[in-house]
Amino acid sequence: ASDSILMDQPTTSSSSSSPAAPTIVEVDLGDRSYPIYIGSGLLDRSELLQRHVLGKQVLVVTNTTVAPLYLDKTIRALTGGNPKVKVESVILPDGEQYKNMETLMKVFDKAIASRMDRRCTFIALGGGVVGDMCGYAAASYLRGVNFIQIPTTVMAQVDSSVGGKTGINHPLGKNLIGAFYQPQCVLVDTNTLNTLPNRELASGLAEVIKYGLIRDADFFEWQEKNMSALLAREASALAYAIKRSCENKAEVVSLDEKESGLRATLNLGHTFGHAIETGLGYGRWLHGEAVAAGTAMAADLSRRLGWIDGSLAERVDAILRDANLPTGPPPGSMTVETFRSVMAVDKKVADGLLRLILLRGPLGNCVFTGDYDAAALEETLRAFCRS
Ligand code: NAD
Repeated sequence: ASDSILMDQPTTSSSSSSPAAPTIVEVDLGDRSYPIYIGSGLLDRSELLQRHVLGKQVLVVTNTTVAPLYLDKTIRALTGGNPKVKVESVILPDGEQYKNMETLMKVFDKAIASRMDRRCTFIALGGGVVGDMCGYAAASYLRGVNFIQIPTTVMAQVDSSVGGKTGINHPLGKNLIGAFYQPQCVLVDTNTLNTLPNRELASGLAEVIKYGLIRDADFFEWQEKNMSALLAREASALAYAIKRSCENKAEVVSLDEKESGLRATLNLGHTFGHAIETGLGYGRWLHGEAVAAGTAMAADLSRRLGWIDGSLAERVDAILRDANLPTGPPPGSMTVETFRSVMAVDKKVADGLLRLILLRGPLGNCVFTGDYDAAALEETLRAFCRS
């Protein structure tokens, strides 16, 4: 049941110098549907962005790392042939620790000082942190203004910019304050990945691997053959992986926008991963690294339950290793008790029961369930922890 449409538009043959048309993945959400444009050099294509800017005022939200790399280019794309548009920008400090109320206020300060009106457009230029914050700002400024995402990390291009979850952290927990708010469009310029550090690249690939495992066996098998091309940043391999990831996420989101069930499966490995992030202390491991270790643990538990073959659990470990990702927490770093206490407050606990996303059946199938043998979970935790 594919609700997302993929249009691989033919390239224009009239001029050899005209750039290839972008790939478009449509996110189907009724009157809030929107396109994801994917291609190299899209930031040089003024018409794509300008098509989705409704009013004359734009606020670009970015950070201190991304601004020197791509802010000028973005402003040129917005203003090229369009002198009437007024572009302001706000440059936030870089880091998950700034994804908070205080930093969010800087976005509002700038918008209000620049007298942005209801028809203005907020543009998120950066990774998932900038996207989540800018999206939440757009959802709440004047009760909601036009919003565009220009994600610049693999994590943001394959996951966080798609699906409309926006928000900030609270000192007591991650992503506790936020809104579902869909953008007008997402513009993925794969050239932006050329400046991304290797570790960030690999971290994003953990989410790409996830889509294959939970619902797309062909994609997983493609990744097994093409992991080295992805790590070498081959443009066509990256574009394919991003497209296929966005199609998978778009399909899940259009079937279950507000996460009543199916959408939760996108959290494969995240419950264990979140416990590892908390146990190690935030900032030591990147999100995708913790998710990778958590995915290996979910596969281990699925195997102990007899829900998948041992050979599939081995393939999960192998692909994570190929992507330079961890297959468990650092040896000796975690205790069973830490896992238990963090997992007990997971958002997916219902009626005291911890529901997990586990692999079940042949490659490409998973379940979201609280109905598993608790003894098997204990065995998995012990296998990955110091005693
Ligand atoms: P991030 O936004 O912190 O970016 C990682 C690092 O890369 C940062 O230092 C950033 O400044 C830098 N960077 C970004 N683009 C770059 C580029 N092109 N070249 C060089 N450096 C660049 O982290 P992330 O992994 O992109 O996103 C993680 C965040 O996303 C978390 O806050 C997480 O909660 C959120 N998230 C949200 C969703 C969702 O559905 N909304 C899904 C997954 C993750």
